Amino acid sequence: MSAVATDHLIKPHGGELVDRTGAAPEDLADLKVVQLTSRELSDLDMLASGALSPLEGFMGQADYESVLESMRLSNGLPWSLPVCLAVDGPPQGDRVALADESGTPVALLEVEGVYDYDKEREAELAYRTTDQEHPGVARLYEQKAMYLAGKVTVFERATPQFPELARDPAATRAIFAERGWRRVVGFQTRNPIHRAHEYLTKVALETVDGLLIHPLVGDTKGDDVPAATRVACYDVLVRNYYPADRVLVSAFPAAMRYAGPREAIWHAICRKNYGCSHFIVGRDHAGVGSYYGTYDAQLIFDEFEPHELDIEPMFFEHSFWCRVCGSMASAKTCPHDAEDHVFLSGTKVREMLGNGELPPVEFSRPEVAEVLIEAYKS
Ligand SMILES: [Zn+2]
Repeated sequence: MSAVATDHLIKPHGGELVDRTGAAPEDLADLKVVQLTSRELSDLDMLASGALSPLEGFMGQADYESVLESMRLSNGLPWSLPVCLAVDGPPQGDRVALADESGTPVALLEVEGVYDYDKEREAELAYRTTDQEHPGVARLYEQKAMYLAGKVTVFERATPQFPELARDPAATRAIFAERGWRRVVGFQTRNPIHRAHEYLTKVALETVDGLLIHPLVGDTKGDDVPAATRVACYDVLVRNYYPADRVLVSAFPAAMRYAGPREAIWHAICRKNYGCSHFIVGRDHAGVGSYYGTYDAQLIFDEFEPHELDIEPMFFEHSFWCRVCGSMASAKTCPHDAEDHVFLSGTKVREMLGNGELPPVEFSRPEVAEVLIEAYKS
């Protein structure tokens, strides 16, 4: 990677980009092994790359309590969601090996503590619900009973699902710098991008230097569109409808928690580490079902002083094609009635694509719809 200065970009959260990669210890074979879940492995990889800066490992009790109670680390820095490693009980030894799902050791953890936690309390505070039907809460309830805290050193990085899109925060920062971008807006997505979201990203891009389309490729719930299909959609969309020198598509390796408002803050902080100065927050960001109010994920940003997060949220309404305006618009910019708007429910879109029908061009770019129709066939 070329050594382009990145000083003009937004500072990582806490000031320094963390790097928790390193060599395997010589006594690796002697260490007890803790096997991680797929969500924990996503977190581990983000700890390694600095995507979770300033975190250097899985949270200790002081940070955990502080995050739940006040959305801050114990040093006062904003942080909205626990990043914890669940275990059955206290480990043997002051260091343990962390293994992937196949049992292969990939990291070292220096034990700083192990503590009890109350799953219902974490659910209520982090997810705003204790309902076990909530996918994030369900996963929390399935976890082991205690949390193990400590700094990690990752010596075997996870194999990226999409190598061509795998870029650590240092890499996206270097690309932004090379392209001369200072202000960069990040767009989190776990769906194919139709006209509505294309519009949001372009409205945002009009006011900054560059756009990072940052699809989440970690675990999502089973009925979300698979990441491979989404990545194919992003590719045809960007090639056909975005200027190549103003946009970067890169993978965000996080697992979805579906924690709504608190996850919106967490998503923003992570994107700040990737070098984004701005972050798009739509309606019901990171929500699921009807657990969160439409604007909760936007309102929660008001719980911080503007300088605290540093990254600037950009709030958006749902948008649509208006036949009278003759353009994309939203309730903020269009005075016409719903009957003048091209709106299709998610169910209707899936039905059309499943039947091999192209949705109206005002709703979806045909190139994107064709990728989805192909995916529905197989
Ligand atoms: Zn209109």
